[in-house]
Amino acid sequence: MRIDKLLSNSGFGSRKEVKILLKSKAVEVNGETVRDPKFHVDEKLDQVSVGGESVVYREFIYLMMNKPPGVISATEDRFDETVIDLLSEEEQRFEPFPVGRLDKDTEGLLLITNDGKLAHELLSPKKHVDKTYYAKIDSPVTEEDAVAFKKGVVLDDGYETKPAQLRILRSGDESEIELTITEGKFHQVKRMFESVGKQVVFLKRLSMGPLSLDESLASGEYRELSEEELTTLK
Ligand code: URA
Repeated sequence: MRIDKLLSNSGFGSRKEVKILLKSKAVEVNGETVRDPKFHVDEKLDQVSVGGESVVYREFIYLMMNKPPGVISATEDRFDETVIDLLSEEEQRFEPFPVGRLDKDTEGLLLITNDGKLAHELLSPKKHVDKTYYAKIDSPVTEEDAVAFKKGVVLDDGYETKPAQLRILRSGDESEIELTITEGKFHQVKRMFESVGKQVVFLKRLSMGPLSLDESLASGEYRELSEEELTTLK
């Protein structure tokens, strides 16, 4: 990896700021001063120091966000703000991406990382990672709906869903439910309710596998995963 990328990812500022740092002769690799931003280092083997202090290189970033409504779960969008736009410049330098998608109007738990292997494992259909959602529905939700979801319902494109667990928290003109699914088809929760003639009017993801939304995060806030959360995910 280039020394300027390593230093930038390790919190020494933008590539431009790192270039100035290198010019000032503050950076050493294995005891030798390095001034060239393109200089290649092996982040596992080479000893990098800035002003005599060792640099501990960090490769991955893992963030839990309480996604707000109105932003897109993508790295870039031509029209709308993305979840990546909500991160600081320093975090963006890791080139993170959201693990899976929540609809623009869906809120709640979103994992953001640059660890492609972990993302792949969490999203792999073979792994059947549970995802639990809280939703408000525009009409009464019944035990028949729970039975239908447990059996599997047929979506508008003919796809039959895998067994899902529906818990009815409150049934009325506006119902509240929790639904756990093990798949991640496009608009899945909304389409499952459409298959039984009902509309989701509010949707929030509460958990993904062993990871639960930290309810102390306000909408749009995020934090790093704890060591414990990361261990349970891997
Ligand atoms: N199901 C949906 O319908 N939308 C989401 O954002 C997530 C699951």
